[in-house]
Amino acid sequence: MDLSGPAYLVASVSFILTLQFLSSPKLARQGVLIGAFGMAVAVVGTLIRPEIVTYKWIVPGVLVGSVIGAAMAAWIPMTKMPERIALSHAFGGLAAALVGISEYVRHDPHHLSNVTVAALGLETFFGFLTFTGSLLAFGKLQGFITGAPITFPGLNALNIAAFVGSLLGLGLFVLHPEMANVFYGICVVGLVIGVTAVIPIGGADMPVVISLLNSYAGLSASATGFALDNNVLIIAGALDGTSGFILSMMMSKAMNRSFANVLFGAFGTGDSGPAPAAAGGGRVAQYSQGSVEDGVATLQAAQSIIVVPGYGLAVSQAQHAIRELGQILESGGAKVRYAIHPVAGRMPGHMNVLLAEADVPYDQLFDLDDINDDFAQTDVVLVVGANDVVNPAAKTNKGSPIYGMPVFNVELSKTVIVLKRSMNTGFSGLDNELFYLPNTMVVLGDAKKTLQAMKTELESRDD
Ligand code: NAP
Repeated sequence: MDLSGPAYLVASVSFILTLQFLSSPKLARQGVLIGAFGMAVAVVGTLIRPEIVTYKWIVPGVLVGSVIGAAMAAWIPMTKMPERIALSHAFGGLAAALVGISEYVRHDPHHLSNVTVAALGLETFFGFLTFTGSLLAFGKLQGFITGAPITFPGLNALNIAAFVGSLLGLGLFVLHPEMANVFYGICVVGLVIGVTAVIPIGGADMPVVISLLNSYAGLSASATGFALDNNVLIIAGALDGTSGFILSMMMSKAMNRSFANVLFGAFGTGDSGPAPAAAGGGRVAQYSQGSVEDGVATLQAAQSIIVVPGYGLAVSQAQHAIRELGQILESGGAKVRYAIHPVAGRMPGHMNVLLAEADVPYDQLFDLDDINDDFAQTDVVLVVGANDVVNPAAKTNKGSPIYGMPVFNVELSKTVIVLKRSMNTGFSGLDNELFYLPNTMVVLGDAKKTLQAMKTELESRDD
């Protein structure tokens, strides 16, 4: 009896539940477990299918893949998650494309239905595109390739022409599946577009690109499902494809950038760097630097505190340190809340994941819209390694590249304490006037070390 049908049903329901659970920080962990369970059921369901004639190649593959996957999960730090995801997509895309080629090779093309031929073409095209595109995204994020956009005149037109050409080639292949040259031509163009579509995009926009490539990998997997007549692949691929696409759109929206601007705009240098000299003939703006003791004195006197975490929190792994400091301040009578920006950090939900790991209570986390009106009535805002998401230029400077991006109104609070290592810029490479305002105190240093020193100082004052 073939039990793969019921197994696929259980797996598909698990995947849908996973997505539902992942939309709430409280249920996200359970969502991940349900997804892993669904994947295990789908794999076992496939391994017991009657078409499997030998496990000779499958068992070593499972062992090698499991060892590599477990090592990656154990050793890759949270800040490297976008890179890890890019690598996973690369190999997912490659697997789908190779399955497509093997299906084409092992069947007589004349006996394949039009749907199967179209699915094979789509699967290999998007699979190879995802493979090279994701490898390139990985290289840019990891610094193997410059994060700056690499572009030349006519590149966008070339990409569009190559894309349209592949679609025409696909149509020809469906009409004449025996034309192997057309099939392999589509594969090569897919490999090339993966490179040429990603090189003009700055390293800074790679998270959006990775999420879009995720969507291509999903499309490729779904097409594989049609080619292999495998329902769970069709469903999982479709869920993956659409969720990746929606995520890319949401990230672009939260950065106030159009999707087309991310893909074709060659935005950013990909690296943060020194702050440019402030406007006004190169005069460098003054900022007021405070010590750990100054920061603690201000925090101790505050009744209401909002913590704004950003990418620097992830870099310094300061999530436990901020939670511990927050708890002490709360026990001293202050109201402590955390403001989470949709694009703080380098991937969606980055801050939620880190703060959840440190057991910061969910009811202390507030989204932008829910907390932005409260800054004006807040005593102290503690900015922990955030920069762009607290840059007032996004509201006031029409010439700024981030103008229009929703940002926190932190400058309206009585005092702002900024923890960062230097006066360097963040992701967008833009200086931030917040750091130079009279109500802002900058405490320089690694965020985790500064927070730990603040905790020690606070405890010594309480003794
Ligand atoms: P950010 O603008 O990149 O700023 C990070 C700040 O952290 C920098 O000012 C840096 O200054 C500081 N920092 C780095 N390491 C630190 C450490 N060890 N200790 C203390 N401070 C440290 O970060 P953000 O405010 O979170 O903004 C995120 C940006 O990423 C936005 O522009 C967003 O559009 C973009 N983005 C986000 C996503 C997403 O999905 N989340 C996706 C794509 C793009 P120093 O070097 O001086 O310390």
